[in-house]
Amino acid sequence: MTDLLREPALYIDGDWVPGTAEDCEVENPATEQTTGVVAQASPHEVEGALEAAHRAFASWSATPVAERADALRRLHDVIAERAETFAELINREQGSPPPLARKLHVDVPLSVIAQTAAAVEEFAFRSRIGNSVIIREPVGVVAAITPWNLPLHQIIVKVVPALAAGCTVVLKPAALTPLTAFELARAFDAAGFPAGVFNLVAGSGRDVGEQLTKSPLVDHVSFTGSTAVGRRIAAMAAETLKGVTLELGGKSASVVLSDVSDERLATAVKVTVANCYLNGGQTCTALSRLIVPANRLPQVEQLAAAAAAKFQPGTRLGPLISAGQRKEVESFLTPGKVVSSPLELPDRGYYVTPTVYSDVDPDSRLAQEEIFGPVLSIMTAESDDHAIELANNSIYGLGGALWTDDTDRATEWSARIRTGQVDVNGAPFNPRAPFGGYKQSGIGREIGDYGIADVLEIKAVQL
Ligand code: NAD
Repeated sequence: MTDLLREPALYIDGDWVPGTAEDCEVENPATEQTTGVVAQASPHEVEGALEAAHRAFASWSATPVAERADALRRLHDVIAERAETFAELINREQGSPPPLARKLHVDVPLSVIAQTAAAVEEFAFRSRIGNSVIIREPVGVVAAITPWNLPLHQIIVKVVPALAAGCTVVLKPAALTPLTAFELARAFDAAGFPAGVFNLVAGSGRDVGEQLTKSPLVDHVSFTGSTAVGRRIAAMAAETLKGVTLELGGKSASVVLSDVSDERLATAVKVTVANCYLNGGQTCTALSRLIVPANRLPQVEQLAAAAAAKFQPGTRLGPLISAGQRKEVESFLTPGKVVSSPLELPDRGYYVTPTVYSDVDPDSRLAQEEIFGPVLSIMTAESDDHAIELANNSIYGLGGALWTDDTDRATEWSARIRTGQVDVNGAPFNPRAPFGGYKQSGIGREIGDYGIADVLEIKAVQL
């Protein structure tokens, strides 16, 4: 794929509709060249998409659950057939090196679709409490507003549970990575979804994002992005008292308890560095703080430096998304105890050297703010209680990791970490488990049964 890609039309009501706002260029962050030009929606086209979704809701919400699950399985199969195309588009607009583009950016959302189709078929849409039948009904039209860091995954985790639940959707993808979303609209079309059930309108957050959030035709806004924009969306949605799902920033901690063997310590450091630097450090659950027993620090520093050296441009390390993001990340690279080595970076592309800081002050900017780049902060704890206290010393509460040899007590320790997810001893991502944040990391849950429940109303019928 070397030519300029052109996407002149939006996907509205099962049709391709030219966007009448000014086109937007898409940059490849690895080459700093324009790689695509996409149509942008005017307020008129956004309104058309909302009306289509509103019209389609009556029949889609009444479609039997098994048929909705089958439609999602067809979508899964179309994306799986076109997996290489999706990976190439993500490499092109987001910069992820090709193997990562396939494994992280395409295979993970595919497993989310498969698991959601299974979850909705088992979901209890009706139950009884005494003389009441409790009915769970789709909320209506969902506006999905997504970020650029995982251009396909962030869309799938919102749109697929909403469609499974019986809602219809209008999607506004990130302005920096819209090409993947256009390919996804083609996949929806090929999978035979009824007109109006899924609609795509590209555009800026200020224009299209705000119009969707304020519209009385939208019943629920599902947003992933920065905490600052999330706050603004919650305030705008309050005007029409619509529900919101907000997946926001994070500053997740990897907590190593004092009982770990040298072998587990080595695994903990290796996995934490890899997780922190995954996708150029641009993941919301990045384990960007490593909290270790004070007496193990010298060993941890050596292990972390060795793990960081494995991140080389073009293989495991991609560029950051934009010049602005690189500048932002570089603002954190101030003098301190750096234990990683400098790296030779390509002349082009928004690369940053993966950096490990040690002995970081837990209240410093480095330890408190989300960086969204490949920067790890190591902190030391005097006891296991102190380690948990440090982990909870954050306005965020999204993810986390716990390392211990005492697996019987791992759940107990995890319960003390105030976050929506904790991975014990490197346990893998579960594509059906609820995903979301405590504190300023968000409101609501995505994925699987809980993602479906997030876009359902609850009715009690007394008999
Ligand atoms: P962003 O908040 O700038 O933008 C996210 C989306 O919101 C984009 O589609 C954007 O166009 C839109 N938007 C911007 N302003 C808007 C407005 N006023 N009204 C409506 N929509 C608006 O975030 P970003 O820079 O694209 O993504 C990076 C951020 O996302 C990081 O802070 C990261 O932590 C967060 N993130 C969170 C999760 C999670 O699941 N918690 C996952 C990935 C990223």
